[in-house]
Amino acid sequence: MLARIREHLSRARPLRKSGTAPGPPPYSASLPMLSKKMPPDRFERMKIVAVEPFILHVPVTGQEIADSMHRLTHWGVPGVILVTDTGLRGYGYSGTHAHLPTDRLITGFIEHTAAPLLLGEDPAEIDRLWQKIYRFPPAQWVGRSGITHLGLGAVDVALWDLKAKAAGVPLWKLLNAGAPAPALEAYNTDGGWLNLSRERIVANAKRFTQEEGFRGVKLKIGKPDPAEDLERVAAVRRAIGPDVKLMVDANGKWTLETALAWSPRLRELDVYWIEEPLWYDDIPAHAELAARSEVPVALGEQLYSYYNFRDFIAAGAVRFVQPDVTRLAGVTEWRQVADLAAQHGLPVAAHVGDMMQVHLHTSLAHPACAILEYIPWIRSCFTEPATVRAGTFVPPREPGAGTTLVPDALERYAQPLR
Ligand SMILES: [Mg+2]
Repeated sequence: MLARIREHLSRARPLRKSGTAPGPPPYSASLPMLSKKMPPDRFERMKIVAVEPFILHVPVTGQEIADSMHRLTHWGVPGVILVTDTGLRGYGYSGTHAHLPTDRLITGFIEHTAAPLLLGEDPAEIDRLWQKIYRFPPAQWVGRSGITHLGLGAVDVALWDLKAKAAGVPLWKLLNAGAPAPALEAYNTDGGWLNLSRERIVANAKRFTQEEGFRGVKLKIGKPDPAEDLERVAAVRRAIGPDVKLMVDANGKWTLETALAWSPRLRELDVYWIEEPLWYDDIPAHAELAARSEVPVALGEQLYSYYNFRDFIAAGAVRFVQPDVTRLAGVTEWRQVADLAAQHGLPVAAHVGDMMQVHLHTSLAHPACAILEYIPWIRSCFTEPATVRAGTFVPPREPGAGTTLVPDALERYAQPLR
């Protein structure tokens, strides 16, 4: 049966030529849901009987980290537990900068808007429930991105967690219909923050690559003087040698002029990609940079919807596509974006607002994914934390989406909902 589902999915999504983004509707008809292809008795009928929001604030590595735009001491995990009448519990969450008032906006949407739409429903009907919340008129009026989308993303992840648990398999096996896990390379972001000294980022990169087995590292750039950025990138390149992938990330700080002026120097240092070089929404500027720079452009962590990605891809404004289940509305929309990228021959390297727990599954199950970011801040919260061994992610074994919390996480990190 699983082989037949896989065959059907491959037939149902023909490849398209670059620049011709597939037309609507992306959310239901274009992506057949596995649930519709399963025999009725494959899953035990379930009913959602309680919706329990939560907020965790978990410390980052060291006292504080910074990039060119942000500075934070904790990672925020506003999420939800969907309780079913079978006893199975689905866990989903978003990822934030641990600002309690805005985290409460997300859990408030879940509690007051999504929950009444979910109670009594069968969680196996993910696509229908996704649509029910996304197109709920009062929510659609104020949403389609931002708070409502982050809340829907948390709900969607919890629904997929339940579906995989009901099937008794880790989510990546459910999504790829039982195929063996491919090798998924890890690159480490957690040593190259902008607030760390040059000596520290060099030491971190050497430790990651020479002691811990990583074959890729990412550095933040966006200092007031780009020459200082280049000195830092050059120092790390000297330390790690020519065979390690080295990415840089400006978090939207640079102008087109700055990026065009400095990208040849980054190319000389064999930078693998430049991430979010320009302001997040500026499609024409990214398209011009992508056309004129020899360093590939990566972006996507600030894009909220399939339609945002469609427009960037159609404009030729991105090479490495970086969707995030916590910014898009969950696994459902992430897969649609990954499919779109694959149809245009673009690699997908997920941004890990979930700190890898869910993206490890979605990436293992998608042919466009060969590499995934690694940031270990919230690993202690989960029953099966994402793990890297010899530079490659270990495929999860527990049923579910990797989101099940250990009780200790709620005891140690929970914040008041109101
Ligand atoms: Mg980034």
